[in-house]
Amino acid sequence: MLTQTPEETWSEFLAFIEEKSSATEFANWFAPIKVIPGDSETLVLEVPNIFVQEYLLDNYREDLAAFLGTESSGKLPISFVIAKKEATKPPIQSTPSEPHTPSPSQPPLKLNPGYTFQDFIEGSTNQFVKSAAMGVAARPGKSYNPLFIHGGVGLGKTHLLHAIGAYVQENHKRLKIHCITTEEFINDLVDNLRNKSIDKMKRFYRSLDILLVDDIQFLQNRLNFEEEFCNTFESLINQNKQIVITSDKPPSQLKLSERLIARMEWGLVAHIGMPDIETRVAILQHKAEKKGLRLPQNVAFFIAEHIFNNVRQLEGAVNRLNAHCHAMNTEVTEDVVQKLLHELFQYAPHKKISVENILKSVATMFNVSISDLKGQTRTKEIAFPRQVAMYLAKELMTDSLVKLSSSFGGKTHSTLLHAWKKITGLVKRDDTLRRQIDMAKRNLEE
Ligand code: ADP
Ligand code: MG
Repeated sequence: MLTQTPEETWSEFLAFIEEKSSATEFANWFAPIKVIPGDSETLVLEVPNIFVQEYLLDNYREDLAAFLGTESSGKLPISFVIAKKEATKPPIQSTPSEPHTPSPSQPPLKLNPGYTFQDFIEGSTNQFVKSAAMGVAARPGKSYNPLFIHGGVGLGKTHLLHAIGAYVQENHKRLKIHCITTEEFINDLVDNLRNKSIDKMKRFYRSLDILLVDDIQFLQNRLNFEEEFCNTFESLINQNKQIVITSDKPPSQLKLSERLIARMEWGLVAHIGMPDIETRVAILQHKAEKKGLRLPQNVAFFIAEHIFNNVRQLEGAVNRLNAHCHAMNTEVTEDVVQKLLHELFQYAPHKKISVENILKSVATMFNVSISDLKGQTRTKEIAFPRQVAMYLAKELMTDSLVKLSSSFGGKTHSTLLHAWKKITGLVKRDDTLRRQIDMAKRNLEE
């Protein structure tokens, strides 16, 4: 039973979710949902596709139940309707001038114009995957098939996928190519099922020369869709048509059927990693140059040092600096960077390591008390763990020996140095000790 109107309850729920979820999650999954006014017993939600409905039910069932209550059968008092698709799709810009005339059954190719091979900066962690992508673009269906690209968020998977598309479009004008996110594929399938035009869709997919599929991880737990995807996949591969897939995980770690995983492993599985610092600097400079922003080398290094696990953030940094320096008519300096980009920056984890944490960890490992470790007892059972703790402090912390030794209950710095030397020597010979110390380090650095 709802005590308020469904609209009111829903907006309270949204306010709660907005607090709890990230801005992107909210924008992607919740903002597009509309409430349809109806009788007051059931909340009628209009969702853009079945995907959003499933996401909501899979991830927020309990929260929804808390807000809306449940029916005696345990069912949520919600019904879903799927929005009629608008004629226009969100524009990622289709390439305009090409004589590539899409037939009514062939949707325009949506590629981000900035995502080309020329604009993809190479480094040791992405060189291999870039050259595999270029190989596929140059000889579709004839080199690696499928090409499966996996790696973390913001490392250039979509960029490479679109670069293949752009290259093929430019150099193999006759080939029929389609680039799609997994979510769009599912939407397409849902639409065509509803419109009873599934055969038309099958014909379209099976007539392609190149299929580029982004973010296959979204096919996980979508059993019905997975089967259709797998059929499409097999029919293309069997005709030597090129398939490229991106994913945030390698095939073997995806929760998909063994059959599909095996298919995806048929060709080449290539990993894309975070670029090293020199490559990050080169990316920053490339992005800055394209925007006409002057970015001194030392500042680029400073930024690259502190943004180290997502290229998209490097780009965000350049955009932010550019907007600021343009508006204020200033040059980029370390000060400006520090002020503007502070919250994007990550700091090396050891900064949080303290002597207290080290003592805690060592005390647990050797089953002694922290006060013993800090005390004066010289029995071997205590003195040895104490030396290990001292060793870890010197290894993991940047404080001076004098400062460190005072944290051990007023020992002298030569005691600490002696402990460090002794344990350093032992670690080389004693495997068990080395494993214990590695474990303690990992624990402390997490
Ligand atoms: P992913 O799909 O892996 O999450 P994207 O392909 O969307 O990542 O890349 C995120 C952003 O970083 C894009 O703007 C892309 O142009 C940029 N980028 C990633 N890697 C590189 C690279 N090696 N050189 C230039 N830009 C890159
Ligand atoms: Mg992507």
